[in-house]
Amino acid sequence: MSNSDPLVLIVSGPSGSGKSTLVQKILELPDTMLSVSCTTRPPRKTESDRKWYNFISEADFQGMVKRGEFLEYAQVFGKNWYGTPRKALDIAVAAKKDLVLEIDVQGALQAKQKLSGSVAIFVMPPSCADLERRIRERGQDSEDEIQRRLERARQEMLNYSSYDFAIINDDLDRAGKEVQAIALGSRCRVARKEERIREILKSFGG
Ligand code: 5GP
Repeated sequence: MSNSDPLVLIVSGPSGSGKSTLVQKILELPDTMLSVSCTTRPPRKTESDRKWYNFISEADFQGMVKRGEFLEYAQVFGKNWYGTPRKALDIAVAAKKDLVLEIDVQGALQAKQKLSGSVAIFVMPPSCADLERRIRERGQDSEDEIQRRLERARQEMLNYSSYDFAIINDDLDRAGKEVQAIALGSRCRVARKEERIREILKSFGG
């Protein structure tokens, strides 16, 4: 990790675990920004280009893969492709902001491996029954899809030990505070403060 690397907070967890809400909690903190992913999924009615995603064609996506333009990428639910452009890191450096990635578990494992100083946060539901209730309440999926999501969640949960932090999302207020505490605490890592610490040491003549 070098001093010019942005702090990267990777927020991940099963679909329906409530990670988007917790990402919003991190973004309430000053000097944070969301990484805008590229996807081949068509936009939903409420989504506009560049705010949520860069919606691109499969050919364009594969072109970016070939040119090595993604920090990580994955095919989610065996259907659409999603990827974090490397340039998100440059944008965060230029803006002097911490970068928040809201990505799936496959992508989180790749990003964590590539960015040694990144912080990986796993958002988990308190139980399978709770996750099922949340997915059903969203009313977005067919019965088949619900069963696929639950099976996928079961697989994803097995990766918990690759993460630095776990948030059990059974109380939004507490979970929101926890995720903000992780973001703020990560800023205080000695490795992130070295430049400043050296300046302070100079003032002591050392
Ligand atoms: P949705 O289509 O509902 O917006 O997202 C589906 C899943 O893809 C979610 O779990 C979301 O976090 C994940 N996702 C969004 N952007 C990326 C990305 O850039 N890379 C990866 N690996 N997953 C992503």
